[in-house]
Amino acid sequence: MEPAIDRILIDRLAIARRVGGMGDAIAADIADRRAASRLVVVPVMTGALVLTADLIRTLPVPMSISLVEASSYPGSAIASTGVRLDAGAPLEDLRGAYALVIDDILDSGRTLAAVADRVRAAGAAQVRTCVLLNKVVRRAVDDGAALRADFSGFCIPDVFVVGYGLDHDGLYRNLPDVAILGHGRAQPDRWRPLVVGLAGAVGAGKSRAARCLADLGMVVSDSDGDVASLFELAEVQGELASLFGPRVVAGGRVDRRAIADRVFADADERRRLEGVLHPRLHAMRRRRLAEASRTGAPGMVVDAPLLFEAGVDRECDLLLFVDTPADQRLERVRRTRGWDQAELARRQAAQMPPDQKRLRCHAVVDNSGDADDLARGVRDALRSAAPGVLEAGRCGGLAGPGGGG
Ligand code: 5GP
Ligand code: MG
Repeated sequence: MEPAIDRILIDRLAIARRVGGMGDAIAADIADRRAASRLVVVPVMTGALVLTADLIRTLPVPMSISLVEASSYPGSAIASTGVRLDAGAPLEDLRGAYALVIDDILDSGRTLAAVADRVRAAGAAQVRTCVLLNKVVRRAVDDGAALRADFSGFCIPDVFVVGYGLDHDGLYRNLPDVAILGHGRAQPDRWRPLVVGLAGAVGAGKSRAARCLADLGMVVSDSDGDVASLFELAEVQGELASLFGPRVVAGGRVDRRAIADRVFADADERRRLEGVLHPRLHAMRRRRLAEASRTGAPGMVVDAPLLFEAGVDRECDLLLFVDTPADQRLERVRRTRGWDQAELARRQAAQMPPDQKRLRCHAVVDNSGDADDLARGVRDALRSAAPGVLEAGRCGGLAGPGGGG
């Protein structure tokens, strides 16, 4: 019997808004890399047809299109059976180009990785990948960045979806919404925590937002806390003393103020400090994610001031931007850390500008209200950027009409 639509997972308005956001992020990335002379869009046919049509109309730059064909779910299969790239037309010469590979959905990640390899082999100077949907749980916690997309619209649970270009046995591609097909239940045995990265200007309240996610059962990876515990280690203290002189470690304690004065005044000093801390922080995040995975937590939230600068965003499935007006941020850091305007500006200057961070995030959380507003905002952002993911946790199938089968 033909499976029927169970329910809409993402409606057309939400898709349109998010595709606009992805277009802005891609346009900014292209502008950052002016070295690439031209944009070549490489849609993976046929699923990427609709997304490509919408996305390219948000990109105000000259471009050409070069199609590739791939199939990994031939016909009516709903379980991935390996990727077949069509040997057909060879890719055009991509030498020097900024190539944007577009697919409908990242499932095992094999299609996108295979197409990206081919595009690289055709000589593209920059290769970026973009998908509307990301089935997070389908990739293991320790899969590398190769199986991720540079730009993604939504995280979804492990259900079979159709619409907006996605088919089942050739049908449903013209549905304007993304819908769950009847027998595509989330697999409760296949689960890994959603990794949520928090971004924002200095003093935006990322840690407060992290606590809201902890209230939803997520494990928190807090870089500032991790740095504090690293500073307690004799081994780390020894390395700091040899880099910055014995005065930065006094009486068995790291003088954080002295180190801050050095590294926020000099980018080389900052890189040296990061060389000591970042590999250790990375290992701590991985251990925490493994633990979240073992205990069945719905996710891990990463609260790290240098999320993008240190490349930690690439470990995240979902990025939320915590948005707080500048006057509230200043008031907050004055109260909690004793910083004045100049100190706030100095810290901010060591980071990526907030507007650039915002562009790279999947959703924005407004933090201009009280604690309840923030908790609600965090939940809403999570629901809109990762529809059905929290509900599809370990304990069962999707919540909602007909769910759980
Ligand atoms: P991957 O190589 O990442 O496992 O597979 C990606 C391809 O599998 C997509 O391009 C898409 O054609 C197909 N696919 C994966 N999940 C779904 C799904 O839920 N619905 C549909 N219609 N196709 C899917
Ligand atoms: Mg496809």
